[in-house]
Amino acid sequence: MSDLIDPKGGALVIANARTPNGMPLDLCLEGGLISSFAPRDDQGSPGVERLDAGGRIALPGLIEAHTHLDKNFIGLPWVRNETTSVRAERIVNERRLKRELGVDAGLQAERQLALALAHGTTHVRSHVDVDPEVGLESIKGVIAAREAFRGRVDVEIVAFPQSGCLVWPGVAALMEEALRLGADVVGGIDPGTIDRDPVAHLDLVFGLAARHGKPVDIHLHEPDELGAFCLELMAERTRALGMQGRVMASHAYCLGALPEKRLATLLDTMAQAGVAVMTAGPPGMPAPSVQRLRAAGVGVCVGTDAVRGFFVPYGSGDMIERLARVTERNGMSRDEDLEAAFGLITTESAAALGVPDYGLHVGAKADLVLLEAETLAQALIEPPRDRIVIKGGAIVAGTPA
Ligand SMILES: [Zn+2]
Repeated sequence: MSDLIDPKGGALVIANARTPNGMPLDLCLEGGLISSFAPRDDQGSPGVERLDAGGRIALPGLIEAHTHLDKNFIGLPWVRNETTSVRAERIVNERRLKRELGVDAGLQAERQLALALAHGTTHVRSHVDVDPEVGLESIKGVIAAREAFRGRVDVEIVAFPQSGCLVWPGVAALMEEALRLGADVVGGIDPGTIDRDPVAHLDLVFGLAARHGKPVDIHLHEPDELGAFCLELMAERTRALGMQGRVMASHAYCLGALPEKRLATLLDTMAQAGVAVMTAGPPGMPAPSVQRLRAAGVGVCVGTDAVRGFFVPYGSGDMIERLARVTERNGMSRDEDLEAAFGLITTESAAALGVPDYGLHVGAKADLVLLEAETLAQALIEPPRDRIVIKGGAIVAGTPA
C-alpha cells in the first residue's frame, strides 16, 4: 500500500487510460471530483500527481447493490454448510450459527469491505439484520465498519428484519432505533410468507420510510401471484408517498415465473411507480429477465447477496464475477451485450440506488476502477486481477506500475 498516491488536496492526472469503448482518455481529478478530460501540461508541478494508466479501461467505481456485510465467514475457519433449501429453516439455522460461533458483525463487515475494495467496488448497499435476538448489535458493528472505510468505500445500511416484523414483537421499535442510529434504508422481507400479512407488513415498512425520509429495499422471494400482488402493493405505496425512484424489490423471483400478460402489466406498473429490481442471477430459482426489465423501463441492478454467506457459500466478492453469472443466466454472449451489462454494476445501479454524482463525466465523484483488459467483454469473461481503485481522487487500492 506504500505505492498508493494521495494528492492530498492537489490534482491527480490519469494519463493514457481508455474509455469503456476503448477510446484514449486522460482525466484530471481535483477536489474529489472529475474536473476535466483534457491532457494537462503541468504534470509534475507541485500539487499535481500523475498516474500512467498504461492503457487500462476506466470505469466508475463498481457498485455492490445488495449484500449482507454482517454475516459471512470470510477469514474464519471453514464452517460446514448443513442448511436445507427451506428459507425459514435457513433463517433459524443462521441465527443459531451467529449465536454459537459468536460472529462479530463489525469485523466480518470490515473483511468483506476490504475484499470488495480490492476488486474495485466503491459503493456497497448492505442489508443488516435487526431481530429480537441480535437486537441492534449487527447494525452498530456495520456502522463502525462504515466509519473505518470512510473515504474508501461508501456504505449504505439497510435495517433488515430478516425474521419478520409482525411475527416478532418489538422488531418495529428496533427498526425505528436502527434508523435513528444511522441506518440509511428501511428493509423488509416476504410480506406474505414470513409476516403472513402483506398489507400490514408493507404499511409498517413504508410508514417507517415516510416518517424518517428514507428509501425502501425489500427482499421479495414470494412466488408467482403472491409476489406479483406484493409488487403491486409496493407500487401503490411508492406512488402514494411520492417515493418514485427510492424503492427496490430485491430478487423479485416472481418476475421470472409469471404468465406473459401478467408480467407485461406488472412491469408497466413498476416502471410508472419507479420501483427498481435487484437481481443476483440466482441459479435454481426463477429470476427476472434483465432484458425485459430494461425494455419495460424498470431500473435494474446487481448484487452478490452474499460472499461466503451463511445460506450460500459461493462468491469471491468481485462484482465482475457476479455480473458474469447474471449475463450467463440471461443468455447474453455477444460482446455488445456483455459490454452494456457493465451498466448493471455501474451507472444503471447508481440510478436504481439513487447514488448521486456518479459516473464518468466532469463533475462526477472521482471514484474509479482501472481495468487491464483489451475490451470490457474480455474483462467480464477473464476478470483482470490487476485493478487500480480510486476513491475521492486518491488511489485507495491496487499498485500502480
Ligand atoms: Zn439478501
